[in-house]
Amino acid sequence: MKFLSWICFALMLASCTSGGKGPDKGVSFALPDLSGIYPYVENSAYSTQLKSCANISTGAASCQLSKLPLIGMEFDQPTVEQIMQRVLVSHDWMGLRFQEYLNEAPPEILTLFKATSAIVIASNIRPSFFLSYSGAIYLDSYFFWLNNEEKATVTKSSDYRSSFGQYLPFKLRTRNLINNEFAYTYPSLNGNEERPLEDIIISTSRVILHELAHANDCVQTQNMVNISDDQSYYSLLNSQKSDGQCAYQKLTDFSPLNSDIWKSLGRVLFHGFEETADQISMSPRSAGETFGADDALDFYSYSTEREDTAISFEVLMLKKLFNVDLDVYVVPSYTVDSCDIQVSWGERGRLAKPSVYARAEFVSDMMLPGMDLDTLYQSLPATFDIPEGSSSCTRDFSQTASAAMKVMKSEPFYPYEEIPIL
Ligand SMILES: [Zn+2]
Repeated sequence: MKFLSWICFALMLASCTSGGKGPDKGVSFALPDLSGIYPYVENSAYSTQLKSCANISTGAASCQLSKLPLIGMEFDQPTVEQIMQRVLVSHDWMGLRFQEYLNEAPPEILTLFKATSAIVIASNIRPSFFLSYSGAIYLDSYFFWLNNEEKATVTKSSDYRSSFGQYLPFKLRTRNLINNEFAYTYPSLNGNEERPLEDIIISTSRVILHELAHANDCVQTQNMVNISDDQSYYSLLNSQKSDGQCAYQKLTDFSPLNSDIWKSLGRVLFHGFEETADQISMSPRSAGETFGADDALDFYSYSTEREDTAISFEVLMLKKLFNVDLDVYVVPSYTVDSCDIQVSWGERGRLAKPSVYARAEFVSDMMLPGMDLDTLYQSLPATFDIPEGSSSCTRDFSQTASAAMKVMKSEPFYPYEEIPIL
Protein backbone atom coordinates (compact mmCIF):
# COMPACT_ATOMS: atom_id res chain seq x y z
CA MET A 1 0.00 0.00 0.00
CA LYS A 2 2.65 2.46 1.10
CA PHE A 3 4.85 1.57 -1.83
CA LEU A 4 2.08 2.04 -4.34
CA SER A 5 0.93 5.33 -2.96
CA TRP A 6 4.49 6.66 -3.18
CA ILE A 7 4.65 5.73 -6.83
CA CYS A 8 1.30 7.35 -7.44
CA PHE A 9 2.46 10.56 -5.88
CA ALA A 10 5.64 10.52 -7.92
CA LEU A 11 3.85 10.16 -11.20
CA MET A 12 1.05 12.55 -10.27
CA LEU A 13 -1.55 10.01 -11.23
CA ALA A 14 -4.80 11.60 -10.18
CA SER A 15 -6.34 8.44 -8.91
CA CYS A 16 -4.12 5.80 -7.52
CA THR A 17 -5.13 3.02 -5.23
CA SER A 18 -3.82 -0.45 -4.85
CA GLY A 19 -7.23 -1.88 -5.68
CA GLY A 20 -8.65 -3.14 -8.93
CA LYS A 21 -10.58 -1.40 -11.66
CA GLY A 22 -13.84 0.23 -10.63
CA PRO A 23 -15.68 3.54 -10.45
CA ASP A 24 -13.68 4.74 -7.48
CA LYS A 25 -10.45 2.92 -8.15
CA GLY A 26 -7.98 3.87 -10.79
CA VAL A 27 -5.23 1.64 -12.10
CA SER A 28 -1.70 2.79 -11.47
CA PHE A 29 1.60 2.38 -13.22
CA ALA A 30 4.04 -0.09 -11.66
CA LEU A 31 7.73 0.63 -12.02
CA PRO A 32 9.59 -1.97 -14.14
CA ASP A 33 12.29 -4.17 -12.61
CA LEU A 34 15.53 -2.40 -13.45
CA SER A 35 17.88 -4.65 -11.49
CA GLY A 36 19.69 -5.61 -14.69
CA ILE A 37 20.76 -2.17 -15.86
CA TYR A 38 24.40 -1.01 -15.83
CA PRO A 39 26.31 2.19 -16.77
CA TYR A 40 27.03 2.18 -20.51
CA VAL A 41 30.31 4.08 -20.08
CA GLU A 42 32.61 2.28 -17.65
CA ASN A 43 34.69 4.18 -15.11
CA SER A 44 33.11 7.56 -15.74
CA ALA A 45 32.76 10.23 -13.03
CA TYR A 46 29.48 8.85 -11.66
CA SER A 47 29.48 5.24 -12.84
CA THR A 48 29.65 3.84 -9.30
CA GLN A 49 26.51 5.63 -8.02
CA LEU A 50 24.52 5.97 -11.23
CA LYS A 51 22.54 2.76 -10.86
CA SER A 52 21.76 3.12 -7.16
CA CYS A 53 20.43 6.65 -7.80
CA ALA A 54 18.31 5.73 -10.86
CA ASN A 55 16.94 2.37 -9.71
CA ILE A 56 14.81 3.63 -6.79
CA SER A 57 11.14 3.57 -5.91
CA THR A 58 10.71 6.01 -3.02
CA GLY A 59 11.35 9.67 -2.31
CA ALA A 60 13.39 8.64 0.71
CA ALA A 61 15.87 6.89 -1.60
CA SER A 62 16.40 10.01 -3.70
CA CYS A 63 20.16 10.73 -4.01
CA GLN A 64 21.76 13.87 -2.66
CA LEU A 65 22.66 16.24 -5.48
CA SER A 66 26.23 16.22 -4.16
CA LYS A 67 26.32 12.49 -4.94
CA LEU A 68 24.65 12.76 -8.36
CA PRO A 69 24.16 16.35 -9.56
CA LEU A 70 21.86 17.22 -12.43
CA ILE A 71 23.82 17.42 -15.68
CA GLY A 72 23.22 21.19 -15.88
CA MET A 73 24.71 21.78 -12.43
CA GLU A 74 28.04 20.76 -13.96
CA PHE A 75 27.80 21.73 -17.62
CA ASP A 76 26.18 24.80 -19.08
CA GLN A 77 25.99 23.32 -22.57
CA PRO A 78 26.42 19.55 -22.20
CA THR A 79 28.17 17.63 -24.98
CA VAL A 80 27.16 14.21 -26.25
CA GLU A 81 30.06 12.70 -24.31
CA GLN A 82 28.99 14.37 -21.06
CA ILE A 83 25.41 13.15 -21.47
CA MET A 84 26.62 9.62 -22.31
CA GLN A 85 28.31 9.44 -18.88
CA ARG A 86 24.80 9.41 -17.35
CA VAL A 87 23.42 6.55 -19.44
CA LEU A 88 22.32 3.19 -18.02
CA VAL A 89 21.21 0.33 -20.27
CA SER A 90 20.10 -3.29 -20.17
CA HIS A 91 21.95 -4.07 -23.46
CA ASP A 92 25.02 -2.42 -25.01
CA TRP A 93 23.33 -1.68 -28.34
CA MET A 94 20.91 0.68 -26.61
CA GLY A 95 23.76 2.90 -25.39
CA LEU A 96 25.44 2.87 -28.79
CA ARG A 97 22.20 3.84 -30.53
CA PHE A 98 21.40 6.55 -28.01
CA GLN A 99 24.83 8.05 -28.69
CA GLU A 100 24.23 7.89 -32.44
CA TYR A 101 20.88 9.58 -31.88
CA LEU A 102 22.44 12.36 -29.78
CA ASN A 103 24.96 13.04 -32.55
CA GLU A 104 22.02 13.79 -34.87
CA ALA A 105 19.76 15.52 -32.33
CA PRO A 106 19.05 19.28 -32.51
CA PRO A 107 21.07 21.37 -29.97
CA GLU A 108 17.84 22.35 -28.15
CA ILE A 109 17.44 18.72 -27.08
CA LEU A 110 20.98 18.52 -25.70
CA THR A 111 20.25 21.66 -23.62
CA LEU A 112 17.12 20.07 -22.14
CA PHE A 113 19.20 17.19 -20.72
CA LYS A 114 20.61 19.69 -18.19
CA ALA A 115 17.55 19.06 -15.99
CA THR A 116 18.13 15.28 -15.78
CA SER A 117 20.38 13.14 -13.63
CA ALA A 118 20.42 9.98 -15.76
CA ILE A 119 18.98 8.31 -18.84
CA VAL A 120 17.88 4.69 -18.55
CA ILE A 121 17.11 2.53 -21.60
CA ALA A 122 16.04 -1.05 -20.93
CA SER A 123 14.40 -3.89 -22.80
CA ASN A 124 11.46 -4.11 -20.33
CA ILE A 125 10.52 -0.42 -20.13
CA ARG A 126 7.05 0.32 -21.53
CA PRO A 127 5.81 3.00 -21.33
CA SER A 128 8.67 5.49 -21.19
CA PHE A 129 8.47 7.71 -18.10
CA PHE A 130 10.12 10.35 -15.92
CA LEU A 131 10.59 9.64 -12.22
CA SER A 132 10.41 12.50 -9.74
CA TYR A 133 12.43 10.60 -7.10
CA SER A 134 15.50 10.32 -9.30
CA GLY A 135 15.26 13.08 -11.90
CA ALA A 136 16.07 10.44 -14.51
CA ILE A 137 14.16 9.58 -17.68
CA TYR A 138 13.44 5.94 -18.55
CA LEU A 139 13.07 5.16 -22.25
CA ASP A 140 11.37 2.29 -24.08
CA SER A 141 14.00 0.52 -26.19
CA TYR A 142 11.45 0.15 -29.01
CA PHE A 143 12.43 3.62 -30.22
CA PHE A 144 16.07 2.66 -30.71
CA TRP A 145 16.30 -0.69 -32.55
CA LEU A 146 17.52 -0.78 -36.17
CA ASN A 147 18.01 -4.48 -36.94
CA ASN A 148 16.34 -7.81 -36.14
CA GLU A 149 18.90 -8.84 -33.55
CA GLU A 150 18.25 -5.66 -31.55
CA LYS A 151 14.51 -5.87 -32.11
CA ALA A 152 14.44 -9.36 -30.58
CA THR A 153 15.49 -7.93 -27.19
CA VAL A 154 12.66 -5.35 -27.02
CA THR A 155 9.62 -6.22 -24.87
CA LYS A 156 6.39 -7.08 -26.68
CA SER A 157 4.23 -6.34 -23.66
CA SER A 158 1.40 -3.88 -24.16
CA ASP A 159 0.90 -0.67 -22.27
CA TYR A 160 -0.90 -1.01 -18.91
CA ARG A 161 -3.55 1.44 -20.15
CA SER A 162 -4.40 -0.35 -23.39
CA SER A 163 -7.83 -1.56 -22.24
CA PHE A 164 -8.87 1.69 -20.53
CA GLY A 165 -12.05 3.18 -21.94
CA GLN A 166 -12.91 0.02 -23.86
CA TYR A 167 -16.65 0.50 -23.27
CA LEU A 168 -16.73 4.01 -24.68
CA PRO A 169 -18.49 4.21 -28.07
CA PHE A 170 -15.48 5.94 -29.64
CA LYS A 171 -11.73 5.70 -29.95
CA LEU A 172 -9.21 8.52 -29.97
CA ARG A 173 -6.51 8.70 -32.59
CA THR A 174 -3.49 10.91 -33.14
CA ARG A 175 -0.87 10.91 -35.88
CA ASN A 176 2.19 13.04 -36.55
CA LEU A 177 2.56 14.11 -40.19
CA ILE A 178 4.97 16.08 -42.36
CA ASN A 179 3.45 17.39 -45.59
CA ASN A 180 0.51 14.93 -45.42
CA GLU A 181 2.73 11.88 -44.82
CA PHE A 182 3.59 10.03 -41.61
CA ALA A 183 6.51 11.76 -39.89
CA TYR A 184 7.63 8.27 -38.85
CA THR A 185 6.22 4.77 -38.76
CA TYR A 186 6.32 2.04 -36.14
CA PRO A 187 7.32 -1.29 -37.73
CA SER A 188 5.97 -4.34 -35.93
CA LEU A 189 8.20 -6.20 -33.50
CA ASN A 190 6.96 -9.42 -35.12
CA GLY A 191 8.17 -8.57 -38.65
CA ASN A 192 11.58 -8.74 -40.34
CA GLU A 193 11.77 -5.08 -41.27
CA GLU A 194 15.01 -3.26 -40.51
CA ARG A 195 15.45 0.51 -40.56
CA PRO A 196 18.21 3.14 -40.91
CA LEU A 197 19.11 5.59 -38.13
CA GLU A 198 17.36 8.47 -39.91
CA ASP A 199 14.03 6.64 -39.53
CA ILE A 200 14.14 6.85 -35.73
CA ILE A 201 15.24 10.48 -35.26
CA ILE A 202 11.80 12.12 -35.12
CA SER A 203 9.95 9.41 -33.18
CA THR A 204 12.83 9.27 -30.68
CA SER A 205 12.89 13.06 -30.44
CA ARG A 206 9.19 13.00 -29.68
CA VAL A 207 9.51 10.69 -26.68
CA ILE A 208 12.65 12.44 -25.46
CA LEU A 209 11.08 15.92 -25.76
CA HIS A 210 8.11 14.63 -23.80
CA GLU A 211 10.08 13.04 -20.97
CA LEU A 212 12.52 15.96 -20.83
CA ALA A 213 9.54 18.31 -20.57
CA HIS A 214 8.67 16.48 -17.35
CA ALA A 215 12.27 16.82 -16.15
CA ASN A 216 12.26 20.55 -17.02
CA ASP A 217 8.84 21.16 -15.50
CA CYS A 218 9.91 22.12 -11.98
CA VAL A 219 13.67 22.56 -12.57
CA GLN A 220 14.41 24.85 -15.47
CA THR A 221 17.80 24.91 -17.12
CA GLN A 222 18.59 28.61 -16.84
CA ASN A 223 18.97 28.83 -13.06
CA MET A 224 20.97 25.72 -12.34
CA VAL A 225 24.11 27.30 -10.87
CA ASN A 226 22.01 28.46 -7.90
CA ILE A 227 20.88 24.96 -6.95
CA SER A 228 22.35 23.76 -3.66
CA ASP A 229 23.79 20.25 -3.80
CA ASP A 230 23.13 19.82 -0.08
CA GLN A 231 19.69 18.31 -0.70
CA SER A 232 18.22 15.36 -2.52
CA TYR A 233 16.73 15.72 -5.98
CA TYR A 234 13.32 14.92 -4.55
CA SER A 235 13.63 17.67 -1.92
CA LEU A 236 14.59 20.14 -4.61
CA LEU A 237 11.51 19.19 -6.59
CA ASN A 238 9.24 19.54 -3.59
CA SER A 239 10.60 22.95 -2.65
CA GLN A 240 10.15 24.15 -6.24
CA LYS A 241 6.59 22.92 -6.07
CA SER A 242 5.92 24.61 -2.70
CA ASP A 243 7.24 27.85 -4.18
CA GLY A 244 4.93 27.52 -7.20
CA GLN A 245 7.91 27.37 -9.57
CA CYS A 246 6.78 24.46 -11.75
CA ALA A 247 5.69 25.10 -15.33
CA TYR A 248 2.52 23.06 -14.80
CA GLN A 249 1.51 25.26 -11.86
CA LYS A 250 2.13 28.42 -13.86
CA LEU A 251 0.32 27.08 -16.92
CA THR A 252 -2.70 26.22 -14.80
CA ASP A 253 -2.73 29.78 -13.44
CA PHE A 254 -2.22 31.27 -16.90
CA SER A 255 -4.77 29.24 -18.85
CA PRO A 256 -6.40 26.19 -17.26
CA LEU A 257 -8.20 23.57 -19.32
CA ASN A 258 -11.94 23.96 -18.79
CA SER A 259 -13.80 20.93 -20.09
CA ASP A 260 -15.18 18.93 -17.16
CA ILE A 261 -16.47 16.35 -19.63
CA TRP A 262 -12.92 15.76 -20.86
CA LYS A 263 -11.34 15.85 -17.43
CA SER A 264 -13.74 13.08 -16.54
CA LEU A 265 -12.96 11.18 -19.75
CA GLY A 266 -9.28 11.58 -18.90
CA ARG A 267 -9.84 9.64 -15.68
CA VAL A 268 -11.31 6.77 -17.67
CA LEU A 269 -8.89 6.79 -20.59
CA PHE A 270 -5.62 7.37 -18.74
CA HIS A 271 -6.27 6.31 -15.15
CA GLY A 272 -8.48 3.27 -15.55
CA PHE A 273 -11.70 4.51 -13.95
CA GLU A 274 -14.91 2.88 -15.04
CA GLU A 275 -16.97 4.57 -17.76
CA THR A 276 -20.10 6.42 -16.57
CA ALA A 277 -23.53 5.97 -18.19
CA ASP A 278 -23.26 9.48 -19.69
CA GLN A 279 -19.91 8.63 -21.24
CA ILE A 280 -21.18 5.39 -22.72
CA SER A 281 -24.03 7.24 -24.42
CA MET A 282 -21.87 10.09 -25.75
CA SER A 283 -21.67 10.21 -29.54
CA PRO A 284 -18.20 10.16 -31.15
CA ARG A 285 -18.95 13.46 -32.88
CA SER A 286 -20.04 15.19 -29.70
CA ALA A 287 -16.97 13.90 -27.81
CA GLY A 288 -14.79 15.41 -30.56
CA GLU A 289 -16.62 18.73 -30.69
CA THR A 290 -16.40 19.10 -26.91
CA PHE A 291 -12.67 18.45 -27.09
CA GLY A 292 -12.31 20.95 -29.93
CA ALA A 293 -14.00 23.71 -27.96
CA ASP A 294 -11.35 23.65 -25.20
CA ASP A 295 -7.65 24.56 -25.55
CA ALA A 296 -5.87 21.20 -25.24
CA LEU A 297 -3.51 20.09 -28.01
CA ASP A 298 -4.05 16.37 -27.50
CA PHE A 299 -6.51 14.10 -25.70
CA TYR A 300 -3.71 13.05 -23.34
CA SER A 301 -3.58 16.64 -22.06
CA TYR A 302 -6.54 15.61 -19.88
CA SER A 303 -4.47 13.04 -17.99
CA THR A 304 -2.89 15.48 -15.50
CA GLU A 305 -1.72 19.09 -15.50
CA ARG A 306 1.83 17.79 -15.88
CA GLU A 307 0.92 15.80 -18.97
CA ASP A 308 -0.88 18.83 -20.38
CA THR A 309 2.32 20.81 -19.89
CA ALA A 310 4.56 18.14 -21.45
CA ILE A 311 2.24 17.73 -24.46
CA SER A 312 2.13 21.49 -25.02
CA PHE A 313 5.92 21.58 -25.20
CA GLU A 314 6.28 18.37 -27.22
CA VAL A 315 3.85 19.42 -29.96
CA LEU A 316 5.30 22.91 -30.34
CA MET A 317 8.88 21.60 -30.44
CA LEU A 318 8.08 18.89 -32.98
CA LYS A 319 6.66 21.59 -35.25
CA LYS A 320 9.59 23.93 -34.69
CA LEU A 321 12.37 21.36 -35.06
CA PHE A 322 10.88 18.95 -37.63
CA ASN A 323 7.82 20.67 -39.18
CA VAL A 324 5.53 18.00 -37.74
CA ASP A 325 1.76 18.61 -37.71
CA LEU A 326 -0.42 16.74 -35.24
CA ASP A 327 -3.78 15.27 -36.28
CA VAL A 328 -6.24 14.54 -33.47
CA TYR A 329 -9.43 12.72 -34.41
CA VAL A 330 -12.23 10.60 -33.06
CA VAL A 331 -13.65 7.46 -34.69
CA PRO A 332 -16.51 5.17 -33.61
CA SER A 333 -15.44 2.08 -31.67
CA TYR A 334 -14.56 -0.90 -33.86
CA THR A 335 -13.38 -4.43 -33.43
CA VAL A 336 -11.23 -4.64 -36.57
CA ASP A 337 -9.29 -1.58 -37.67
CA SER A 338 -9.33 -0.75 -41.39
CA CYS A 339 -9.54 2.14 -43.86
CA ASP A 340 -13.34 1.73 -43.73
CA ILE A 341 -13.38 3.32 -40.29
CA GLN A 342 -14.68 6.87 -40.77
CA VAL A 343 -13.63 9.99 -38.93
CA SER A 344 -16.42 11.39 -36.70
CA TRP A 345 -14.53 14.53 -35.77
CA GLY A 346 -10.94 15.64 -36.34
CA GLU A 347 -8.54 18.55 -36.61
CA ARG A 348 -5.06 19.01 -38.04
CA GLY A 349 -2.71 21.60 -36.58
CA ARG A 350 -4.64 22.81 -33.52
CA LEU A 351 -1.38 24.54 -32.55
CA ALA A 352 -2.36 27.40 -34.89
CA LYS A 353 -5.39 28.36 -32.77
CA PRO A 354 -4.45 31.52 -30.83
CA SER A 355 -5.64 30.32 -27.41
CA VAL A 356 -3.98 26.91 -27.92
CA TYR A 357 -0.72 28.40 -29.14
CA ALA A 358 -0.60 30.84 -26.23
CA ARG A 359 -0.42 27.90 -23.81
CA ALA A 360 2.28 26.04 -25.77
CA GLU A 361 4.29 29.23 -26.15
CA PHE A 362 3.97 29.98 -22.42
CA VAL A 363 5.40 26.58 -21.47
CA SER A 364 8.09 26.49 -24.16
CA ASP A 365 9.34 29.94 -23.29
CA MET A 366 9.83 28.76 -19.73
CA MET A 367 11.66 25.56 -20.67
CA LEU A 368 13.84 26.97 -23.46
CA PRO A 369 13.88 30.76 -23.14
CA GLY A 370 14.93 32.87 -26.09
CA MET A 371 13.41 30.84 -28.94
CA ASP A 372 11.76 32.92 -31.66
CA LEU A 373 8.22 31.71 -31.14
CA ASP A 374 6.51 34.66 -32.86
CA THR A 375 8.01 33.70 -36.23
CA LEU A 376 6.96 30.10 -35.67
CA TYR A 377 3.40 31.17 -34.90
CA GLN A 378 3.17 33.34 -38.01
CA SER A 379 4.37 30.44 -40.17
CA LEU A 380 1.76 27.97 -38.94
CA PRO A 381 -0.85 26.79 -41.45
CA ALA A 382 -4.43 27.43 -40.27
CA THR A 383 -6.10 24.62 -38.30
CA PHE A 384 -7.86 22.27 -40.70
CA ASP A 385 -11.11 20.42 -39.93
CA ILE A 386 -10.80 16.82 -41.05
CA PRO A 387 -14.10 16.21 -42.89
CA GLU A 388 -16.64 14.11 -41.00
CA GLY A 389 -17.04 10.77 -42.76
CA SER A 390 -13.61 10.73 -44.41
CA SER A 391 -11.61 7.51 -44.23
CA SER A 392 -9.38 7.27 -41.18
CA CYS A 393 -6.55 6.36 -43.63
CA THR A 394 -6.80 9.59 -45.64
CA ARG A 395 -4.00 11.99 -44.83
CA ASP A 396 -3.87 14.24 -47.88
CA PHE A 397 -7.05 16.30 -48.19
CA SER A 398 -5.74 18.55 -50.93
CA GLN A 399 -7.09 16.34 -53.71
CA THR A 400 -10.72 15.84 -54.65
CA ALA A 401 -12.62 13.28 -52.61
CA SER A 402 -12.74 10.68 -55.39
CA ALA A 403 -9.01 11.01 -56.16
CA ALA A 404 -8.22 10.62 -52.47
CA MET A 405 -10.38 7.49 -52.30
CA LYS A 406 -8.57 5.99 -55.31
CA VAL A 407 -5.13 6.62 -53.82
CA MET A 408 -6.31 5.19 -50.56
CA LYS A 409 -7.59 1.97 -52.07
CA SER A 410 -4.26 1.22 -53.78
CA GLU A 411 -2.43 1.66 -50.50
CA PRO A 412 -2.11 -1.21 -48.01
CA PHE A 413 -3.76 -0.56 -44.66
CA TYR A 414 -1.23 0.50 -42.06
CA PRO A 415 -2.35 0.22 -38.43
CA TYR A 416 -0.74 3.40 -37.17
CA GLU A 417 -0.76 3.81 -33.43
CA GLU A 418 1.68 5.79 -31.30
CA ILE A 419 3.98 3.88 -28.99
CA PRO A 420 2.55 4.81 -25.58
CA ILE A 421 4.46 7.07 -23.23
CA LEU A 422 3.83 8.29 -19.73
ZN1 LIG B 1 4.12 12.36 -19.79
